[in-house]
Amino acid sequence: MRSLTEQDIRNCFVNCSKGEAKRLTVPRDLGERPWDDLDFLGWRDPGAPDRSYLVTVRDDRPVGVALRFQTARRGFLHRSMCSLCLTTHPGGGVTLMAARKAGVAGREGNSVGLYMCTDLACSLYVRGRKVPESGSRFEETLTVEEQIARTTGNLSAFLDRLYI
Ligand SMILES: [Zn+2]
Repeated sequence: MRSLTEQDIRNCFVNCSKGEAKRLTVPRDLGERPWDDLDFLGWRDPGAPDRSYLVTVRDDRPVGVALRFQTARRGFLHRSMCSLCLTTHPGGGVTLMAARKAGVAGREGNSVGLYMCTDLACSLYVRGRKVPESGSRFEETLTVEEQIARTTGNLSAFLDRLYI
């Protein structure tokens, strides 16, 4: 994706209020992020441990989604798979995140759930730039380019669900 500025990011959230978008924590190292290797930028909010954010570019426009961690279930030890990049992690490596829907549906309290790598590093797993700790990825028959296309397709389907 192309690189984004803090202002691009604050202006592009589709599922939180302008006030929330203004207050949320944007990473300070935007200039050092590996944008060319990112399908989306994801980060956790250091000031609000149950929150994370995801920003991507769709039809040449930045789109941001605020996510909330669902409370971890006790004894949650089995492995789970990220529904974006299909990487499997044990324990807390995959988290169910909830995204409030866009517009009226969101204000009425509707949300969409997504199982996702807790560190939001899907793009790097797909490209082999990050190796999951004691987790694994399938023996893929797809090329990296095809896996990237699949990840962005999954992300796009998730974004669509915010508007249904
Ligand atoms: Zn992932």
